[in-house]
Amino acid sequence: MKKYFLIILSLMISISGVFMSACSPTEGNIFKKNNPEENSRQIYAMDTYMDLKVYGENGAEALDEASRVIYSLDNSLSATNSSSDIYRLNSRSTDTVSGDVLNIIEESIRMSRITEGYFDITVYPLVRAWGFTTSDYHVPDDSQIQELLTHTGIDMISLSGDGNSGTITFADDEVELDMGAIAKGYASDMVYGIFKKYNISSAIAALGGNVCAFGARPDGSDWLVAIQDPFDQSSYSGTIAVQDRFLVTSGGYQRFFEQDGKTYHHIINPFTGMPAESGLASVTIVSQNGTQADALSTALYIMGLDKSIDFWRACEFKDSLESFDAIFITDDGDIYVTENIADRFTCEGGFHTVEK
Ligand code: AMP
Ligand code: MG
Repeated sequence: MKKYFLIILSLMISISGVFMSACSPTEGNIFKKNNPEENSRQIYAMDTYMDLKVYGENGAEALDEASRVIYSLDNSLSATNSSSDIYRLNSRSTDTVSGDVLNIIEESIRMSRITEGYFDITVYPLVRAWGFTTSDYHVPDDSQIQELLTHTGIDMISLSGDGNSGTITFADDEVELDMGAIAKGYASDMVYGIFKKYNISSAIAALGGNVCAFGARPDGSDWLVAIQDPFDQSSYSGTIAVQDRFLVTSGGYQRFFEQDGKTYHHIINPFTGMPAESGLASVTIVSQNGTQADALSTALYIMGLDKSIDFWRACEFKDSLESFDAIFITDDGDIYVTENIADRFTCEGGFHTVEK
């Protein structure tokens, strides 16, 4: 698992690195403006390696604050850390939330409704039954899955409050929350805000598979981000040129186990309790909203290609959903790219453009 994330990271950085070398520091003040100070930081949080690189005068301070915020969110949102807010909600030692935990739960409920239940933070008992919380993997009995499904669904939780503080009520004692499909996206939005606050001119932050391409590269050109090949994690399926965007990829290849010759992965269809088998190998969302991009990548992966395309086409009619684009890779290796980013995407074997 850890090894896998290192591969994504080094892949992405080597891709953007190719272009960074074109503007590497040259001696003399004349080049200073085009070669702002570079600072980078590698951390391990939220069960993944993270790599942040910033350009600008206040880079070290920005990275200090970004790291602090990421660690703090990890401490609040982890379902397995016994001092976290989510653990305390799940174990019923509190029913009150505030600040970021309140915000992320509110946004999760909204995204669950927008995605008609495909994104569902109440999947935790199922995720645990499959062994993904402890790495003690096994296929649960069908009767256990059916029983656990009776404790999942966004209607099993209700949130009341005044905006500063909220009270969570669970429909029964078995309901538990899992922020794993949205926490890194939320963290990347926070990191983006910190970069802005410190007047960072340019930055790239990879929180595992969640990438925040902040502004443009130091020379003003696009960031080039590699989309990992879901069938060969040491390679990539294509690259996309972006400025000021979040890119989030979900795929069954990111965490899985094998039992009796069959592969089972970590993205659970909340309607069946089973790992999603939608015909998609990965979904990458490109958006200006990191939290929504993370929730969407998970939801659309489960929906499958046709339903996801319908969802994307209807996007502007969904209240509080920001517009987004997507790159879908099917189990057959076909690539579908929504039309707004088609001219920014490059791959070797060709791809289908999805029109509105
Ligand atoms: P991601 O990599 O963002 O797609 O998130 C996958 C993680 O989110 C899994 O490891 C689970 O912890 C959790 N998860 C699994 N299925 C769902 C779902 N349908 N909705 C929300 N979270 C999920
Ligand atoms: Mg996600």
